[in-house]
Amino acid sequence: MSRLPSNPEDWAAREAAPNDAPRAVREYLDVLDDEAFGAASEVKPKFTAHADPASQWTAARKGPAFFAYSDNYLIDTDHGIIMDVDASRSIRQAEVGAMRKMIDRTEERFGLKPDWVAADTAYGSSDNLVWLTLKRKILPFIPVVDHSKRKDGTWSRSDFTWDEDNDQYICPEGKELRHTRRNYSDPARNAPGLKAKNYGALKSDCQNCPSKAKCCPNTDTRRIRREEYEIVRDFARYCVASEYNPTAQKRRKKVEMLFAHLKRILGLGRLRLRGPCGVQDEFTLAATAQNLRKLAKLKPLMPATG
Ligand code: SF4
Repeated sequence: MSRLPSNPEDWAAREAAPNDAPRAVREYLDVLDDEAFGAASEVKPKFTAHADPASQWTAARKGPAFFAYSDNYLIDTDHGIIMDVDASRSIRQAEVGAMRKMIDRTEERFGLKPDWVAADTAYGSSDNLVWLTLKRKILPFIPVVDHSKRKDGTWSRSDFTWDEDNDQYICPEGKELRHTRRNYSDPARNAPGLKAKNYGALKSDCQNCPSKAKCCPNTDTRRIRREEYEIVRDFARYCVASEYNPTAQKRRKKVEMLFAHLKRILGLGRLRLRGPCGVQDEFTLAATAQNLRKLAKLKPLMPATG
């Protein structure tokens, strides 16, 4: 029998894996380009399990680290029926990849596409919000990942109001922060767009401003960078601030209840099968059991015959 490589880098080199490698290893190599597994991140895992290299070394559950897979569900929030299930690595990017895969697969298989999706901040990257809103036309009830928040007590970008019509921010003192103050003969050059831009206030406004210490204590004027696709992120913020969000988040809790049931009642805190396919089989069987249980409850009670 061939000796198996002990270094994770050697696992990534397909030629290093002999054809007679264990099934879990062959499956790991097969999913290296899958966005729920190998393609999810270029960061090399700290440790790799020789018996099951596709599993993820994770301490995400705030306890001792262990090798794990993530179980991802796409559910119908009316009844809590699981529409799709996908196994992935236990990292955020892989779970986002699994969500996209499930949305597309559900549309392909059943002709069903959600009007909206509720999820936690892990799914609120610009990339994912663009995919959901612009590419799939799905409303995102997802908190936006925002790295522009200042931690030194000065005003963050969210304290400034975006004025879409005039392509400018308005500061808390009511002054304009503009990308350019020139009027180009070609109006398209001034038009709001999706490209990242810097917006700045006038030096004369900031130097005489009573709020300068709260806004830009170390610079002459305040400047704000508006990210590419900030319009999409603003739309997600608008969805989250809307009156529909509490209902969406309440419905999202149904998926958490399914996961709690999975661990506590079905005892799936530990897996019995190895490799992405084995894990997918276990997750699918467990989801099927949960759906059957749910469907039995949904079925109207038949009158007793006798
Ligand atoms: S410092 Fe400038 S940008 Fe900041 S609040 Fe004052 S006028 Fe507005």
